[in-house]
Amino acid sequence: MPQVVIAGAGPTGACLALLLAERGIDVMLVEAAQGFDRQFRGQAIMPSGLAALKEMDLSTVAETLPHQQLDAWEFWIEGKLLFRAEEPIEADGPPCTLLSQPEFLAAVVERAKACPNFEFVPGTTVQGLKRTNDRISGVSLSDGRAIATSLVIAADGRNSTLRTKANLTLAHQHSLKTGDGSIDVLWFSLPELPPVRKENVFYAIVENGHSFGFFRNSQNQTQLGWGLTKSNEADASATNWRSINWQQEIIDHSPHWLAQVLQTQSDPAVWKPTLFSVAVALAPQWSKPGFLMLGDAAHPMSPVRAQGINMAFRDAIVAANYLVPAIKSDANSTKIDTVLNQIQAEREPEIRRAQALQAAELAQGELLHNYPILRWGASQFAPIVGLGVKQSWLRRQQQLRLGVVPVELKV
Ligand SMILES: Cc1cc2nc3c(=O)[nH]c(=O)nc-3n(C[C@H](O)[C@H](O)[C@H](O)COP(=O)(O)OP(=O)(O)OC[C@H]3O[C@@H](n4cnc5c(N)ncnc54)[C@H](O)[C@@H]3O)c2cc1C
Repeated sequence: MPQVVIAGAGPTGACLALLLAERGIDVMLVEAAQGFDRQFRGQAIMPSGLAALKEMDLSTVAETLPHQQLDAWEFWIEGKLLFRAEEPIEADGPPCTLLSQPEFLAAVVERAKACPNFEFVPGTTVQGLKRTNDRISGVSLSDGRAIATSLVIAADGRNSTLRTKANLTLAHQHSLKTGDGSIDVLWFSLPELPPVRKENVFYAIVENGHSFGFFRNSQNQTQLGWGLTKSNEADASATNWRSINWQQEIIDHSPHWLAQVLQTQSDPAVWKPTLFSVAVALAPQWSKPGFLMLGDAAHPMSPVRAQGINMAFRDAIVAANYLVPAIKSDANSTKIDTVLNQIQAEREPEIRRAQALQAAELAQGELLHNYPILRWGASQFAPIVGLGVKQSWLRRQQQLRLGVVPVELKV
């Protein structure tokens, strides 16, 4: 019988499984998909995430995989550069780095497989939870098996099935403008474009009430995310996005230098976007006896300033700090159940703060989106306004980049 069953081999589940397995805990990691490739997996790792990789002894693994360091962030408004911030932003820190997530997850699971006490079950879904005397005591799998265990960890992402099965809920964050705290993002993966510039810059562009961002990922593809604000009725693209000629739409809202480059990419297939619903939420309660939610299952993060993977790594480290001694010392599961609340207590303040900072970034974008006069003012006086905006942006980035609390692996 595995001591721990983890549902989901995303960044949270894969890293926690490795940490536990390398410390002698019997772990079964169950992943619904056969492989690690997805239409989209986030790539940006902030300095806090890079530090977490070091704590988990995964820096060398990451360095051998396709990755790109970001050179700068640029914010363009109505065709004018508002400001540019060079990476690394901290004088003594590493730059934000783009890392191929499928290859990273495959490497983490491969390393865990070296532990005899680790079992990986791909292509199988955790479908249900078993209970014994009000304690969750196992899972049922889509291959028909019932697995008994001391602890079930739900690392099954934002739409977590196990959260529902455990009768736990999410509280959604309310943003200033959209009311429901959610946006949709249309995601385009374009093959390598002729280099806009030699450097790898994350560009955020606001033009004529539309906003989008793009960067070159670790495989040299251009990833472009177009924001749709659901509650803004003026944003017609939110409802009829399937019928829009996106190449033309994006070119029409691009600064001249970008429009020229986008014109070269005329294959209609690459201009068909994928729609991602982005909701920011936090579960008031992350655990029940025998059951713990971590990562997006407990706190779905918005993609704004790339927090989700970083928080996933940090959740995994803190959970390992508490779970390894509890599981090793425990005969009757009481100790395990006691530490579950402590894991939430240690992680929740940082998650709340990161989500609030993400909301502040989004609110600033929404203000520009909704008020043409602000956009006009910012673009007309870009050299002066940009200086002030840059300073406040840099202040907000500090915790988004470095984390809010220190996270160290202690086991
Ligand atoms: C458009 C977009 C862009 C983003 N960009 C970034 C970025 O650049 N940087 C960043 O840090 N964050 C980014 N994020 C957020 C980030 O992707 C998530 O926060 C992060 O992936 C959460 O990791 P996780 O392991 O908790 O969940 P997930 O990555 O969602 O992994 C969950 C895993 O569980 C599996 N699963 C689901 N149900 C079951 C089940 N019942 N049984 C077994 N397996 C199951 C799934 O197949 C999946 O592999 C982005 C998010 C979006 C929507």
